[in-house]
Amino acid sequence: MTPTEAAADRLHRFVSALRRLPPFRGAPPALYQTSTIAALLAGVYDGDLTVAGLLRHGDFGLGTFDALDGEMLVLDGTCYRLRADGSVEEAGGEELTPFAAVTRFRPERRARLSGPLTRAETEEAVGGLLTSPNMVHAVRIDGRFTELRTRTVARQHRPYPPLAEATAGQVENTFSEVPGTLAGFFTPYYEQGVSVAGYHLHFVDRSRTRGGHSLDFTLADGRVTVEAIPELRLRLPTTEEFLRARTPSTPVDEQIRRIENG
Ligand SMILES: [Zn+2]
Repeated sequence: MTPTEAAADRLHRFVSALRRLPPFRGAPPALYQTSTIAALLAGVYDGDLTVAGLLRHGDFGLGTFDALDGEMLVLDGTCYRLRADGSVEEAGGEELTPFAAVTRFRPERRARLSGPLTRAETEEAVGGLLTSPNMVHAVRIDGRFTELRTRTVARQHRPYPPLAEATAGQVENTFSEVPGTLAGFFTPYYEQGVSVAGYHLHFVDRSRTRGGHSLDFTLADGRVTVEAIPELRLRLPTTEEFLRARTPSTPVDEQIRRIENG
């Protein structure tokens, strides 16, 4: 075999090996999260990841901003800041977050919901769409809400109080007959502390002018889409604030439930 023939033979074998590989089906859905709820409980509110950096990992999700200055909602690739005064603005790419979770949302299952349905009834209906209660799911509900109550935490100042104190001064808003979107995640109980167990949803109205962390609602009717997420990526801050934080070393269940459910 001449050197040319040998090279051609190697190339032929390489191409044959490539053809035997399974077809590329794309990466499985993944959740990208920065920091933990436990760190927020301990008052780690300094943002250390930019919104632009976060959006490289997903187009759908939620979180908060530097110094807890508003609730974050990422929808269709746009990052919204839902402020304590009830206003909504698009966050700049250079703004910072101390806690957020995003995914590239590709709805797997969908259903129409006809209400009126309370929050508990809606969660039960969504539960029927989950692949398994042991998996994180992205959840999106587009619909009309008879009533919807949100909270928004106001900007905190140093020295930062623990989250339970920060949320004591939260602003609550009640919307009536409002069309809009609830978006966020269902998280298994075993993740409580890393994330928020159960349903954690943020709301923005259809005109993208009002919203907040959803506390309670009655759904008139709507459409729900969900996606199971089999891969979780957790990024931890390397800031002094995080490294020195006294994160909880006892069960945090009650504390998180109080904070997240108002
Ligand atoms: Zn929230």
